[in-house]
Amino acid sequence: MTEPPLPAPEPGRRAQLAANLAAVRARIDRACAAAGRDPAEVTLVAVTKTYPAGDVVSLAGLGVTDVGENRDQEAAPKAAEVAAAGVRVRWHFVGQLQRNKARSVVRYADLVHSVDSVRLAAALAQAAGRYRDRPLAALVQVNLDGAPGRGGALVGGADPDREVAAVAAEIAGRAELRLAGVMAVAPLDWEPERAFARLAEVAEQVRGAHPEAVAVSAGMSGDLEAALRYGATHVRIGSALLGMRPTLR
Ligand SMILES: *Cc1c(COP(=O)(O)O)cnc(C)c1O
Repeated sequence: MTEPPLPAPEPGRRAQLAANLAAVRARIDRACAAAGRDPAEVTLVAVTKTYPAGDVVSLAGLGVTDVGENRDQEAAPKAAEVAAAGVRVRWHFVGQLQRNKARSVVRYADLVHSVDSVRLAAALAQAAGRYRDRPLAALVQVNLDGAPGRGGALVGGADPDREVAAVAAEIAGRAELRLAGVMAVAPLDWEPERAFARLAEVAEQVRGAHPEAVAVSAGMSGDLEAALRYGATHVRIGSALLGMRPTLR
């Protein structure tokens, strides 16, 4: 399949993205300095949902290496367009994921942040075995407040399919997957500090059983400073880089 060529980005858009990127990098640098951390150990994941492939290409031209998406229907064609433009970035899947999308996601994603059930881990492993030539990195998404309906596995939850330690063990036990760490979204009604302090505890527990699981994906446009204070290795930044999205999701 040949992709139509991408329209050249408007110069104004590129300048806007450059300014936003500089501001976000400055926030990361300041937060790392305050926490006594090296910004080089933090991966900025630009969450480009609702924005076009051209923005991904522009961001890549500005030095962004990692891009996040939360819906397969949008991410799969966007990743294809970016690849067809000859641009290589690492794709992070950060949204709730249905098992029937595993076969699509494993083909373009380098890292899935949102693995929150044993059954999803198994589906990803099976798909990765079929469609990939190297393991897929996976993070266990943690539901910090136990609110039902939200993505994420529970610590010590009663449902063994959606229990953090069980999901981590399933990922770690699959040759087609690589357990990279944990991820969470701070609950809306919690102070970010409380959320990320709790996630840091969960991360430590997971590392106790799986020392290789060093990644902590936490922090978005509104709370990246708190996340970095509590050890985030990956921050997922959408609106501060790309602008406010037309629809909330
Ligand atoms: C959209 C999204 C982000 C980015 O959120 P912003 O507040 O726009 O920075 C981060 N993580 C996940 C899981 C998302 O869906």
